[in-house]
Amino acid sequence: MAKNTLHCSFCGRSRDEVKILIAGQEGHICENCVEHAQEIIQQELMIRDENSLSSSHFKLNVKKPVEIKRFLDEYVIGQDEAKKILAVAVYNHYKRLQQKIADGDIEIEKSNIIMVGETGTGKTLLAKTIAKLLNVPFAIVDATVFTEAGYVGEDVESILSRLLQVCNYDVAAAERGIVYIDEIDKIARKGDNPSITRDVSGEGVQQGLLKLLEGTDVLVPPQGGRKHPEQKLVKINTQNILFICGGAFDGVDKIIARRINTNAIGFNVNKDQQEAAKKNLLQFVNATDLKGFGLIPELLGRLPVVTHLNPLDKPTLRSILTEPKNSLVRQYKRLFEIENIHLSIADDVLDFMVEKAIEYKLGARGLRSICESILTDAMFELPSTKEDKFYVDLEYAKKKFDKSKMSLLKVA
Ligand code: ADP
Repeated sequence: MAKNTLHCSFCGRSRDEVKILIAGQEGHICENCVEHAQEIIQQELMIRDENSLSSSHFKLNVKKPVEIKRFLDEYVIGQDEAKKILAVAVYNHYKRLQQKIADGDIEIEKSNIIMVGETGTGKTLLAKTIAKLLNVPFAIVDATVFTEAGYVGEDVESILSRLLQVCNYDVAAAERGIVYIDEIDKIARKGDNPSITRDVSGEGVQQGLLKLLEGTDVLVPPQGGRKHPEQKLVKINTQNILFICGGAFDGVDKIIARRINTNAIGFNVNKDQQEAAKKNLLQFVNATDLKGFGLIPELLGRLPVVTHLNPLDKPTLRSILTEPKNSLVRQYKRLFEIENIHLSIADDVLDFMVEKAIEYKLGARGLRSICESILTDAMFELPSTKEDKFYVDLEYAKKKFDKSKMSLLKVA
């Protein structure tokens, strides 16, 4: 048979139109069809490539609360109380999963968690770090994108679609994952009295979340978004999914203050202690305050563990720069090291970064942008030079920072 009469038996392209034609017993296949077949196989059998998570990676890795806390300490600075409470809640949750059969008669309830703290204080980081330790699928969703069924926006079920996606549609793995719902405060009912007008983005969404949090079978559109008739739905049982919610709850301190003043709890101590307590009222937060803020009692009932995160002060921000296992300074050092350049940053430069983060009200999130503004020029130029060390002193840092766009961001 002449060479150019050969064809791919799948797409019909001739030998001349393809790069590779593989011969089988009765026909041929070209590289395009092999690739295409590969895609189909991956989709159909949910085979993961090397980089994605495989269900065998999701072997539950339960640690004791002390170990959980120790692990969190490596990545998250401060926030000891939140860490302890999370460690215990997560431990109990997974203990509950394992002992379900043996303790058939005593049902341990799920310990979904709600964390209250200013933005950028480490709520997401805590949830993410726990998921990393436990080796379970972890999804972050933002409560603000959800609306009550029937309105423009996403159905709450799409929370579970995200979880399915991160574990490549492995339902069994998703069913014991962790979901972090951010900005839960943004779906609070406006005003403490049930509204007469419909509150599309608030109470309706809270109602929608109820069934997800308590643990039932939920039909989930695998691709997320809205359910529509022709879409195949996947059934997920949420009984063993741990939900962690977080929010800044701006203004909840006033509600706490009112409650504490009327109850006079904890204020029969000396003046200094009183002052310190007043500065961080969030530490006294409880479910009643969150109800006052506009979360419905049914939802709070399904989020039995309430904890708070402290605002980040100067020493904490300073530690965040250098101490965590993957701290910013360590990350930049590593980046320079790859270029065979030894990076060192003067201590007063680190203090300067912290001051700027506070001055510009950027919190821990801003530290990264500040580092970038100081180090970008060096990262741009040095790889093309023969330098093998780079020392950042205060003068250099100030010069670069003042020249950067960041210095324009200052808020009054
Ligand atoms: P939020 O409370 O708004 O969820 P994040 O957890 O997303 O805040 O924090 C934003 C970033 O700030 C994190 O990725 C981390 O780099 C840093 N960060 C915030 N708080 C801490 C902390 N306590 N310890 C270490 N890093 C922190």
